[in-house]
Amino acid sequence: MEFGLTEEQERMCEEVRRFADNEIRPHASEYDREEKFPHDVVEEAAEMGLCGATIPVEYGGAGYDAVDSVLIAEELFAADPGIGLSILAASFGTEAILEYGTEEQKERFIEPVARGEAISGAAISEPDTGSDVSSVSTSAEKDGDEWVIDGHKKITGKMGIRASDTAELILDEVRVPEENLVGSRGAGFLQQMQFFDATRTGVAAQGVGIAKGAAERALEYAEQREQFGRPIGDFQAIQHKLADMHTETEAARQLTLKSAWAVDSGGSPNTKLASMAKEFASRVAVDAANECVQIHGGSGFVDDFDAERLYRDAKITQIYEGTTEIQKMIIARELQGKGF
Ligand SMILES: Cc1cc2nc3c(=O)[nH]c(=O)nc-3n(C[C@H](O)[C@H](O)[C@H](O)COP(=O)(O)OP(=O)(O)OC[C@H]3O[C@@H](n4cnc5c(N)ncnc54)[C@H](O)[C@@H]3O)c2cc1C
Repeated sequence: MEFGLTEEQERMCEEVRRFADNEIRPHASEYDREEKFPHDVVEEAAEMGLCGATIPVEYGGAGYDAVDSVLIAEELFAADPGIGLSILAASFGTEAILEYGTEEQKERFIEPVARGEAISGAAISEPDTGSDVSSVSTSAEKDGDEWVIDGHKKITGKMGIRASDTAELILDEVRVPEENLVGSRGAGFLQQMQFFDATRTGVAAQGVGIAKGAAERALEYAEQREQFGRPIGDFQAIQHKLADMHTETEAARQLTLKSAWAVDSGGSPNTKLASMAKEFASRVAVDAANECVQIHGGSGFVDDFDAERLYRDAKITQIYEGTTEIQKMIIARELQGKGF
């Protein structure tokens, strides 16, 4: 069993960290405050192969595997979850086309995303249907060689990840040619569940990144802030918080990397592990962000420091791509051999 990173992975992490330090951290607060989509940063990230990092080289991507993409997500989210998400989610949904799409669909829809010229999305949930994915009301009726789609997908006014863009989507008799159907007719739900195995591991990586960012910032602040004539990091209560944050982040990282390794290995479905990683890493992210604010005291409650932004940003990892309650339900059903 090998736990270390390869030299190539170490180099890749350093490169992404340098990019995050120079292009993301200095602007993160501004993009969050103004709820501005970071077009320039996303374009630069695309040039580095970070948008759609796992898109194969033959479709213009960087061809990274799932383990690499977890390492990339960790670095980007440790710098800033809002901008990190704008970069990573630029290719959200391509996973399904890569897995189930035709050659023509891959060339047509995936290549522009890899080049940073297009942004993809996955509109799964609806205002009335989130956790119960099987009950979506969006309809698709066949009319000759076309599908006619009607439905409504909406999210606005976010508490966190405000640099990332979400919009209301109204599908009003949208006509989609038969050749754009991804995968087999009638198998959409199963395909969607398999799609989540890979993407939930990605959300787990986001959680690890947020936890790492919070743990690092808390350590830095504890070393510089003085009370009672000493750095607050000298007090045992603060030391215990720092120890817990860094230990839990490492545990979440290992579980997430194992889930990514399972995705890369193929073979048996990764459903239980992906849900375990997503549930645990998102919990660690929320706890670490909370303790980061606590260690910053009053400074953690105002926007002079990153702590309050991480606190707002962390919560989404327990909600999207299946809430914590749904992950636990999946884990239990897998343990009981019932499937989802
Ligand atoms: C910022 C943001 C971005 C998003 N991006 C996307 C996107 O790109 N594409 C997309 O399709 N969707 C997206 N979503 C939607 C997201 O996936 C849903 O919000 C999420 O799945 C939860 O669904 P819901 O909000 O309808 O909550 P509900 O399903 O109504 O759940 C409400 C509460 O009930 C609990 N609950 C529900 N069912 C059960 C059960 N059986 N057992 C126990 N507890 C249960 C839930 O865990 C939760 O605590 C996004 C959401 C946000 C906030």
